[in-house]
Amino acid sequence: PVTLRDVRRTFATPTGPRAVLAGVDLELAAGEIVALVGPSGCGKSTLLRQVSGLDTPDAGDILIDGSPVRGTDPRTAVAFQEPRLLPWRTLTQNVRLGLPAGTSRADGAGRVAELLELVGLTASAGLRPRQVSGGMAQRASLARALARNPGVLLLDEPFGALDALTRLRMQELLLEVHAAEPTTVLLVTHDVEEALYLADRVVLLRTPDGDETSIARIIAVPGTRPRDRADPTFAE
Ligand code: ATP
Ligand code: MG
Repeated sequence: PVTLRDVRRTFATPTGPRAVLAGVDLELAAGEIVALVGPSGCGKSTLLRQVSGLDTPDAGDILIDGSPVRGTDPRTAVAFQEPRLLPWRTLTQNVRLGLPAGTSRADGAGRVAELLELVGLTASAGLRPRQVSGGMAQRASLARALARNPGVLLLDEPFGALDALTRLRMQELLLEVHAAEPTTVLLVTHDVEEALYLADRVVLLRTPDGDETSIARIIAVPGTRPRDRADPTFAE
């Protein structure tokens, strides 16, 4: 499980300090998919960065399986709206970059091949990011995140830049991946339908209007994803 307890993060701004996360409490059960929604600027990416260790809260606790997140935590992996692949490397090489340090060459090669297969990129493994579509690059980015074997997968609007059809396919892919490699997922999305479809729980991060010091409040509703769905498949 992932536990956030009274997490606070305040940024200095020209008009004074701004409390973006003002005491966030949230608990994710192991293997749960939680979607985080809320208006632009309410602090979703900031919250994700606290969990990944890319940023550090001013106060509060973030625990994974009971022990605190410190630095960029190897138990977490992140994928963003833009795939952020290295342009001069092939998809295979990009996915390999996600492997935990100390993975042997042989184990790494097998794992990378397995992940490329999982995201439907085996035939395109030798191509460079420039040579593939946005959806394919995003699938490679997801495979790179999974290469870390993360207990916690953090997705910041991962399908936001994709066309509607590719987005639907990516949603199915995420469910397929989650079924194959159960991991706790915190998914930031602007798409409420997507949130309700994918998540076990949808959490709304809210910033009351007209309040200079914003208070993030968490409201949870259960998702609508059918629990016993057939394995979705991705056709390349
Ligand atoms: P969006 O949906 O547009 O991605 P968001 O909910 O992810 O928005 P954040 O990126 O978390 O929002 O930003 C929340 C607020 O915190 C914004 O007002 C932003 O300007 C501010 N903020 C984020 N990072 C910093 C920083 N390093 N320094 C100062 N302010 C910051
Ligand atoms: Mg954001």
